Amino acid sequence: MTNHIPALNPEVTAVPADKLLGFQQSIMGVDDLLFLTFGEPGFDTPEAVKAATVAGVEANHSHYGNSQGDPELRQAVLDYMKDRYNLQYDSIEQVVVTAGVTEAIFAIFKTLLSRGDGILIPDPAFGSYFSSIEMAGGQAIAVDTSKTGFKLTPELLEESIKEATVPVKAVLFNYPSNPTGVTYTKEELEALAKAFEKAGVWVISDEIYSELTYGRDHVSIGALIPDRAIVVNGLSKSHAMTGYRVGFVMAPKDVAAEIQKVHATLVYSIPTFVYDAALAALKMPKADIQPMIDTYQKRRDMAVKVLRDLDFDVLSPDGAFYIFAKLPDDIEEDGWTFAEKLAKEGKVGVIPGEAFSMFDGAKRYVRISYAGDTDQLQEGLSRLQAYIEKVREN
Ligand code: PLP
Repeated sequence: MTNHIPALNPEVTAVPADKLLGFQQSIMGVDDLLFLTFGEPGFDTPEAVKAATVAGVEANHSHYGNSQGDPELRQAVLDYMKDRYNLQYDSIEQVVVTAGVTEAIFAIFKTLLSRGDGILIPDPAFGSYFSSIEMAGGQAIAVDTSKTGFKLTPELLEESIKEATVPVKAVLFNYPSNPTGVTYTKEELEALAKAFEKAGVWVISDEIYSELTYGRDHVSIGALIPDRAIVVNGLSKSHAMTGYRVGFVMAPKDVAAEIQKVHATLVYSIPTFVYDAALAALKMPKADIQPMIDTYQKRRDMAVKVLRDLDFDVLSPDGAFYIFAKLPDDIEEDGWTFAEKLAKEGKVGVIPGEAFSMFDGAKRYVRISYAGDTDQLQEGLSRLQAYIEKVREN
């Protein structure tokens, strides 16, 4: 007889595994697969950042640091956000430096949500939001944006709040968006800002792709409604620093203080030599990261052209490094089946649209990432083309 083993927390075990990670793992074993799946910048971390990291290690910045983030770094965050997006925070107490946006988002949910509270999420969206909300005790309320160009509108917001069966505490939105690349104009944000005010909700704005916009400037909702917005950003994508794990939360002072309590409990602080790295990244002139942005734009143009020539229905994305593409009409399967077959027979990995959505509308979509190396993207697109042509011949 075995001794009794206590059960694990059902509020965690009941949360489904992240569908995106699950699919990526399921195709990992396919031979010679070329991945157009990852949101991983195909660039090395800038030399200035690497040098600052090494110097930080040499200077023994390897002890516990200021939990909320080194004060000089927090000031640099505020200077950067003011310079780039006109965010007007006046105190470093309004900034919390976190272990990536991933931790920031969970800490915010934990701070805002009482058990059962709802958070509206324009759908499709980054999959880990859903599990993060559930683990924090809240309820994700997905808002279908497939009929409004994958954008939240004031009307959709109002309607969704009216129909919600639980109290809605906040809206979590992300632009430029993963997975659609869609972003918002200043006018659209101003209209949304009014709607958020009217609805009396918090706005959590994940702006991790803010630097990666093509032919337009990013406008932060934090510049419009600083008392209601909790802005999240980080260095993973803009500075090719995914492994460094650096995120920032910017919020009203009293909110930031509560988020900091959660952060201190979860991780205490990010590694202290990473503070040096992050400071160096924030001090880099925009011109130093511009070549990466220009390269993403060229990759986007290349991928959009190939996909449209193959009759995929594609909105040309204004930012981030993903394309959310609807399968051509003559390919009658769903995105899941298509992505599995494409991986096994065409040797290209893409992600089924359903991994980002709660709605049937996403079933005919796949997400293609153009974050990686340009040659690999070219090869991946040629394989995709060859696969589709072969399917059409049969
Ligand atoms: N938010 C969005 C919308 C993302 O797409 C990603 C990564 O793909 C993250 C957050 C994760 O960011 P971080 O590396 O800062 O945790």
